[in-house]
Amino acid sequence: MGTSKANTALLHTGFDAKPGTLEARLVRRGYELLSAYAPQAGIPIAAIGALLVAWDDEQLAAFPRIVAGARANGYDTIRELDVDELYRREPQLGPGARGALEVPDEGIVCPFTTPLAYATEAVLNGCELHRDTRVTGVERRGDGGFDVQTTGETFATRYLVNAAGLRSDELNRLVGHDDFTVTPRRGELIVFDKLSRPLLRHIVLAVPTGTTKGVLVSPTVFGNLILGPTAEDIERKDDTSSTAAGLAYLRREGERILPELLRHEVTAVYVGLRAATEHTDYQITIHAPEGYACVGGIRSTGLTASLGIAEHVRTELEAAGLELRPKPEPVSVSMPNIGELSPRPYEQGGRVVCFCERVTLAEIEAVLRSPIPPVDLDGLRRRTRVLMGRCQGFYCGAHVARLLQERPR
Ligand SMILES: Cc1cc2nc3c(=O)[nH]c(=O)nc-3n(C[C@H](O)[C@H](O)[C@H](O)COP(=O)(O)OP(=O)(O)OC[C@H]3O[C@@H](n4cnc5c(N)ncnc54)[C@H](O)[C@@H]3O)c2cc1C
Repeated sequence: MGTSKANTALLHTGFDAKPGTLEARLVRRGYELLSAYAPQAGIPIAAIGALLVAWDDEQLAAFPRIVAGARANGYDTIRELDVDELYRREPQLGPGARGALEVPDEGIVCPFTTPLAYATEAVLNGCELHRDTRVTGVERRGDGGFDVQTTGETFATRYLVNAAGLRSDELNRLVGHDDFTVTPRRGELIVFDKLSRPLLRHIVLAVPTGTTKGVLVSPTVFGNLILGPTAEDIERKDDTSSTAAGLAYLRREGERILPELLRHEVTAVYVGLRAATEHTDYQITIHAPEGYACVGGIRSTGLTASLGIAEHVRTELEAAGLELRPKPEPVSVSMPNIGELSPRPYEQGGRVVCFCERVTLAEIEAVLRSPIPPVDLDGLRRRTRVLMGRCQGFYCGAHVARLLQERPR
């Protein structure tokens, strides 16, 4: 329910990460791991490639620096396209582009299924998941380890991993460390109707500046196009409201990048908050003697880097004495497909409940019986895509609400 539910859903190669940082390394590793894991786990994913477009001389002049950075990050497949080839590839781009860098391995991935697959796999393999349970205090025990107080029970643990997203700095302070502060960086995005999808084949990226990767237009695994995100530092960690100024800015950028896009209907607008800090890298620190790992400040690349981060933290905690043995028979997951990249259940028939996203009754019933069933309409949306389509639930909302209410408990 944090930042992982509202991002741009790109699978980054890490070509533009700051060379030498932990983020650069873990994004690259996460890309490899997630690319291999996603097809097994049923997570929609596709390396559709990106074109980073320069719109003026200054941006064009940045290309050698970006290529050198990509090479320093171990990504050599980047190459320059001239203007003719760019418009041959993307004929609907707005006029005035000066050239592009092609990043053929950049991709798109389902932002909802990915964390849900991780959590489901953990639960199926014996992990206890306590939802709606907030950590309120942490006390160090005399024998090492921690008592973790929550809004539910108190948990005694030898090892503690802080992965609290926007609140990772607050939890870090509860444990007695104070080495970074999270400043939420708001990103607003616009989702366009699926009829716009044929306008674009690649992800169209902007030339990054010091603070942001800039506004992009990208296909999604659900068959929409998205435009965004903005980047604005704000104060409140729960302020996921969109702004008139942000949306107007996105529309201006969209008009310039892909003018036809703006003639299409908007399906939805959403806002995500990046866990930005005063540092330019992830704030991952393993306090080995304490058995405490802080996984904070996972800024705008954490969906891609997630498995790389997990592997890194596990390895470091093992070095700190955490004993882990492989399960003799680990259970793997196979998530329901909610993307448009491979066949969906409605194609086999069955009663359709949500006509915009073509969600069947059988799909809804299956997720209501799943290992981590949704408890509200938002959860049901992210698991099935009901209420996420063109009508945003106008037609099926009441029916879907009833199904949720009558779910087996
Ligand atoms: C606009 C935007 C665009 C992005 N685009 C991309 C992209 O294209 N590709 C990409 O790879 N990444 C992208 N990201 C980044 C990515 O979404 C994040 O890095 C990632 O989701 C962070 O995951 P997390 O688990 O660290 O944090 P979260 O998903 O926020 O999870 C933290 C969890 O901790 C919980 N929590 C907080 N405090 C407590 C407490 N006291 N007790 C118990 N639980 C607590 C929260 O409720 C939450 O569930 C984007 C982010 C944004 C905002």
